[in-house]
Amino acid sequence: MNSSAISPTDLNFALEQDNYDPQAHFRGRFHFPETESGESFIYFSGNSLGLQPDTAEQYITEELDAWKKLGVEGHLNAKRPWLPYHELLTQYTAEIAGAFEKEVVVMNSLTVNLHLLMTSFYRPKGKRKKILIEDNAFPSDRYAVQSQLKIHGNHPKEGLIILNPDQGDTITTEWIFDCFHHHGHEIALVLIGGVNYYTGQAFDMKAITKKAHEYGCLVGFDLAHGAGNLHLKLHDWDVDFAAWCGYKYLNGGPGAPSGVFIHERHLGKSDIPRFEGWWGHDKSTRFQMPDKFVPTATAEAWQLSNPPIFSMASLLASLEIFHEAGIESLRKKSEKLTSYLELLLKSELNEHITIITPVSVRGRGCQLSIRLKNPIYNTIDILREKGAVCDWRDPDVLRVAPVPLYNSFADCHQFVHLLKEILNGS
Ligand SMILES: *Cc1c(COP(=O)(O)O)cnc(C)c1O
Repeated sequence: MNSSAISPTDLNFALEQDNYDPQAHFRGRFHFPETESGESFIYFSGNSLGLQPDTAEQYITEELDAWKKLGVEGHLNAKRPWLPYHELLTQYTAEIAGAFEKEVVVMNSLTVNLHLLMTSFYRPKGKRKKILIEDNAFPSDRYAVQSQLKIHGNHPKEGLIILNPDQGDTITTEWIFDCFHHHGHEIALVLIGGVNYYTGQAFDMKAITKKAHEYGCLVGFDLAHGAGNLHLKLHDWDVDFAAWCGYKYLNGGPGAPSGVFIHERHLGKSDIPRFEGWWGHDKSTRFQMPDKFVPTATAEAWQLSNPPIFSMASLLASLEIFHEAGIESLRKKSEKLTSYLELLLKSELNEHITIITPVSVRGRGCQLSIRLKNPIYNTIDILREKGAVCDWRDPDVLRVAPVPLYNSFADCHQFVHLLKEILNGS
């Protein structure tokens, strides 16, 4: 059968897309949660918690085993020695971030890292004291930013400049430029979610960074919804710093450690304010335990403690799969997959929904945020009963994330038909 002869709304079209998809086999590398009757859920919640890679259990068990058999000697003698364990994640993390290896490190959790990075890069001075964030920023980011303002003696509300949407629920780059035009001289730090968790909007990080630098502001991005989703080029975009979590698109498991990017121009400097700990100290003399802190010449200088090996093990399992698949080709599939879901939503459900995520492929990652015109209170529970897992935000938004590593075109097709049954009241 020739695909051009099949209507895209026909299930056979989806099946054929899956058939020709060179990445389709990666689906088999992940464990899908199952319904009571033992069928795999259609899983569109990879933006909240990514699925478990097939090698995660083995990797964690190997470390439990090494601990059992080697005790303290596992630091040096485990198959993957614990002392430099976090270095196993560095190359893969650099690939995901679009960075040099020295510019990234995996450590702590996301909000902790935002604070560590703001300690270094939020440096209010004179008239330049404010922080620019986007409207509808993730609550943790707002709390983090407001508490940083307070710590520096600034008013937690007056110190904030909030970018309100100017186009539907989203914010255009022109509008952001306009904000720099008016407030650039008073902004010390720009801290925006590279992909907004609520609308799914992906910001033009390159353009924003360039403009912010022209006005003398530093720029950080929270990439909780960007890492493992977009094809990032943080180094080339000249971003000052970024951080993201390891458990959303990166599939590292609940509470998995966070990744951090710090541009090379900020590395190896002794005049940067920073919270310091022994794991950030120069490796060659770390165990001589000297009095004076000598920072590692890489992003590792921001590390405080020795890392949690078990949670790094499952993240490593997933990052190996990312490396194998390649973030660039995953993004290519992702663009097709999300456009396909969009096409089906529009052709099957147009009278019931509006998609608040930008239409342009460059303006979004894999997630679509769907506003229901007549919200049904327990849509999400009914969807679950019918075999699909996704996310609901009051009062009326359904967030769905078809993830290129493990979701299929057939998933999109089935999902839209389940949602249609609900919205049509059948
Ligand atoms: C998921 C998410 C967080 C979560 O923070 P943790 O410190 O990992 O609990 C923070 N910010 C954004 C934008 C998120 O999407």
